[in-house]
Amino acid sequence: MLNKVRVVLVGTSHSGNIGSAARAMKVMGLEQLVLVDPQCEVDEQTLALASGAGDVATNAKIVATLEEAVADCELVFGTSARSRNLNWPFVEPRECGQKAIEQALTGNVAVVFGRERTGLTNEELQLCQYHLGIPANPEYSSLNLAMAVQTVSYEIRMAFLEHQRSAYKEQVQEYPRHKELEMFYEHLEKVLIDTQFLSQKQPTLVMNKLRRLFNRARPELQELNILRGILTSIEKKKPQNSD
Ligand code: SAH
Repeated sequence: MLNKVRVVLVGTSHSGNIGSAARAMKVMGLEQLVLVDPQCEVDEQTLALASGAGDVATNAKIVATLEEAVADCELVFGTSARSRNLNWPFVEPRECGQKAIEQALTGNVAVVFGRERTGLTNEELQLCQYHLGIPANPEYSSLNLAMAVQTVSYEIRMAFLEHQRSAYKEQVQEYPRHKELEMFYEHLEKVLIDTQFLSQKQPTLVMNKLRRLFNRARPELQELNILRGILTSIEKKKPQNSD
């Protein structure tokens, strides 16, 4: 999913910033970097600042225009320190993360960052569905490029982790019905009597305690099936010949 989210840097002039941005991305699990008309090379300075994320910088795709960089994207965010005043749908990083991850289920997403000194032009911002602003100090709101990339990448990762957690919850919510639990208790009782763990005359007290134990553990359907499988395997095992 994170592979469907790309970071686009437009007109970057300091090669070190490309490295720092690559590092900011990779620590958050993002690897798709596109450079639009870069004003510098991916050089030693890039690799030094990328640290272990040099691969993200050297694998970056280089294109001439922003249109090319986002042509196959279903959702494009354009970042700017000035976004709120631009009269365009506006989001902050948290909402951007959620929207990006939701969209990444079906298609590609881009987050576009501007030039170090002048940011993105209005024409470039107009190519984006949303303007994304980091709500910084209004009197000093312009972050260093790579730090802006870090802030947004972090929120994308948080949204991704939250998505994973909720997908896991959906997956495990199947619980046995009452009837299935009763069949399990019957089965358990039968096996425990067969193995002589319980006496046939007085099984109730222990069985009640076992019921309480399983109630507390609240086994999922799959777990209950495993327990039933164990009981069946005990039943199948023939008694050892004692002589
Ligand atoms: N003077 C420029 C600032 C450029 S900073 C301007 O007015 O846009 C370089 C890039 O970092 C910006 O183009 C943007 O992509 C990102 N950035 C910096 N501060 C930001 C903020 N507060 N919100 C969103 N993006 C920001």
